[in-house]
Amino acid sequence: MAKMTGKWCTETYKDTALSFKIKKKLYSKRSKFQLVEVFETEKHGNLMALDGCYMVTTREEFVYHDMLAHVPLFAHPDPKKVLVIGGGDGGTVREVMRHKGVESIDFVEIDGDVYTVSKKYFPELVKGLEGDKRVHFKFGDGIKFVKDSKDIYDVILIDGTDPSDIAGGLFGTEFFNDVKAALKKDGIMSMQSEDPWFDLPIIKDVQARLKKTFAYSGLYLAFIPMYPSGMWSFSCASKKYDISVIRNKKSKITGFKYYTPELHSAAFKLPQFVKDGIK
Ligand code: SAM
Repeated sequence: MAKMTGKWCTETYKDTALSFKIKKKLYSKRSKFQLVEVFETEKHGNLMALDGCYMVTTREEFVYHDMLAHVPLFAHPDPKKVLVIGGGDGGTVREVMRHKGVESIDFVEIDGDVYTVSKKYFPELVKGLEGDKRVHFKFGDGIKFVKDSKDIYDVILIDGTDPSDIAGGLFGTEFFNDVKAALKKDGIMSMQSEDPWFDLPIIKDVQARLKKTFAYSGLYLAFIPMYPSGMWSFSCASKKYDISVIRNKKSKITGFKYYTPELHSAAFKLPQFVKDGIK
């Protein structure tokens, strides 16, 4: 939970804690789904927490959004129809929009309050979303949404909260089967899949379920200073492609702050303890 004591905001996670020096709390309100809080930090811009878990800061957000969006979008030869589940802060959709070949982005976030708060306190995350005709806002449960989608998407990105409550189902076999059915025959999915230092068993379960459901599955890492250990994982899967390989020659994008073509494949090279832990 994120707790403010004096000038510090501290998120405790299992037997650890991570603190940010705070100027002030900017917002705190329980939505229909979760407690939404925003703090102004000394050196990291604004910080959003949902039910006391750090989600995004102005300073670090580019790492997570680059890696969740661009690894699958460059692994697919010509992504046109994309589904983003979760990602209410807007950062993932913003990154998808940079691929000019993408024709449609369905944005399915369960909690509209997260997007409204992000518009106010993280304008850089939602920049351009409402002006881009490709973005279709569909506030609702992504788990239900995919059930009604068959053979539609080239890429599905799952930018959910931790596997409990509203997001618990985003880590399960039934959902993965529904995602598979919603993807076209060469579709690719990628999802945030927690922290290898504290939650390797969760990653192991997700990887086993994806392996059972898809022809190809993989795990790649990124380093996100505002998450409990700083190491974060993304689990991906495809009906046809090895996602560590870049195939998309159409997307000419410059100015990344984290993603690079070299890092695209390197991110799949795992430390031995992670390899052992997901066996
Ligand atoms: N993108 C952020 C980052 O940089 O780490 C964090 C993730 S984003 C804020 C997580 C979102 O998933 C939240 O806005 C939450 O409301 C949403 N969410 C959780 N379960 C969902 C579901 N079943 N369907 C749609 N959205 C869901």
